[in-house]
Amino acid sequence: MGHVLVLNATFEPLNIVTVRRAIVLLLKEKAEVIEATEAQMRSQYLTLDVPLVIRLVYYVRVPRRLFLPLTRRTILARDHYTCQYCGAQPVKSRLTVDHVVPRSRGGETDWKNVVTACVPCNQRKGQRTPGEAGMRLLAPPQRPRYIALVLLGKAQAHETWQKYILSDKEPKGECISDKTRKRMVFVNMA
Ligand SMILES: [Zn+2]
Repeated sequence: MGHVLVLNATFEPLNIVTVRRAIVLLLKEKAEVIEATEAQMRSQYLTLDVPLVIRLVYYVRVPRRLFLPLTRRTILARDHYTCQYCGAQPVKSRLTVDHVVPRSRGGETDWKNVVTACVPCNQRKGQRTPGEAGMRLLAPPQRPRYIALVLLGKAQAHETWQKYILSDKEPKGECISDKTRKRMVFVNMA
């Protein structure tokens, strides 16, 4: 069975769950359907459109402990296995992690200073900044906001999910009232 993208009450992508889990959330009225396929699921008592995207009724605060560790694997996944200088997508073994500001120049190992680079770009850049090397980043590196999506990888993401995943809107969590926060539902992030 397929997977379903779960959005927070703020429409911020939160997680990816199985269709079965999504249906449980829907039946318990913890979530509503945002997008569904044309396929239908029938049981003795009800007929449901198979969901593709659901939205939680209550806001879920994402705990800090879920922040993603900074590793070669997570950096490559964040960058969709694409060289951030030339856009090449070689096999994973031909991808490296590049410090934008080199460590030898005081650059830190931080989400905002590491990018995926192919071997030729990394060699060409050497111990220089992109400016000095006359190279440009495709996009400034950022701390990934949507952990589940990084872990899943772009390849498995459903086409319908793209407009939610790629949305650059800032999460509106801070606008949610305290009363709403107290009614948070627990979502299994595993
Ligand atoms: Zn490259």
